[in-house]
Amino acid sequence: MAANMRVPVLFIAGLGRSGSTLISRTVGAVHGFCSVGELFLLWEHGVRRNEMCGCGVRFLDCDFWRSVGKEAFGGWDNVDIDEVLELHNSIVRTRYVPLLILPQAVPSFQCKLKRYTEIMSSVYQAIRTVSGCDIVVDSSKTPAAAYMIRHVPDIDLRIVHLVRSSYGVCYSHTKIVRNPNYGNGFMRRQTPTRTAIEWMCLNLTLDALGFLGEPRMLLRYEDFIARPRTNLQRMITFAGEPMGTEELPFHGENHVQLPRSHSIAGNPMRNRTGLEPLAVDNAWRTELPQRTKRIITALTGMGLARYKYPPFDRNTACAR
Ligand SMILES: [Zn+2]
Repeated sequence: MAANMRVPVLFIAGLGRSGSTLISRTVGAVHGFCSVGELFLLWEHGVRRNEMCGCGVRFLDCDFWRSVGKEAFGGWDNVDIDEVLELHNSIVRTRYVPLLILPQAVPSFQCKLKRYTEIMSSVYQAIRTVSGCDIVVDSSKTPAAAYMIRHVPDIDLRIVHLVRSSYGVCYSHTKIVRNPNYGNGFMRRQTPTRTAIEWMCLNLTLDALGFLGEPRMLLRYEDFIARPRTNLQRMITFAGEPMGTEELPFHGENHVQLPRSHSIAGNPMRNRTGLEPLAVDNAWRTELPQRTKRIITALTGMGLARYKYPPFDRNTACAR
């Protein structure tokens, strides 16, 4: 691993509750890959709020992140966190995606973007150095983060566009999920209608990345669960890593062995280690009212067809 080479970054993009935490941690369990969770939340959740790292200790007490801060900036104390958060909040927002496509349209935005992405470049370089891994796995998910990261210098970006059936995502957003990292102790809930609109808009925005020439791989969550070995190998190859003889982190066909991670923010399963079952939650089939399913079909039908999901009243062959 030569110093100052471009850092390969595998970026996982998709709507929340689409399985990104499980998939990023599964890739991170492969030799040579380092999964750091939702890196775009590093500044707010890590440096500013000192929340729990995936390894179970506070961010500023975690040896891994302390080493990253030292490698990148001589220590997190040397970062002007107010400045970085101001930059972050004026760049990594959905409403700024058009400017992230054409930053030269507004010179002041372009200057901020240059400054912010140079800082992020130092972070990616430091993660590679400290972890000793060839490839950094960033599951920041959001379109704004995906469009921002395109501008980070000295990285080699590959984007996995993760899609899960809109019915499953909409149902998941109605469930009560504990997460000690959230203010009220629970993950955000919202109506199926709102989630369906977000699902459609977000996936169309991520599709557009392909028109900009970014290397992009479409992955359906249900396909990953049904054929985890095949799809993990697809991701490894897509990331530019030749398939070696290393063992994949699966136990049988239905479980993955997850090591300790240093994931930033996100789903509470980022803290779990050991055997994790691979299964799709299909409770939406019985739990969502028929009327709600019809609304989801109406709002997301174009995307369902594009990603080859049959409408709810037909059998699905992809999920189990
Ligand atoms: Zn840690």
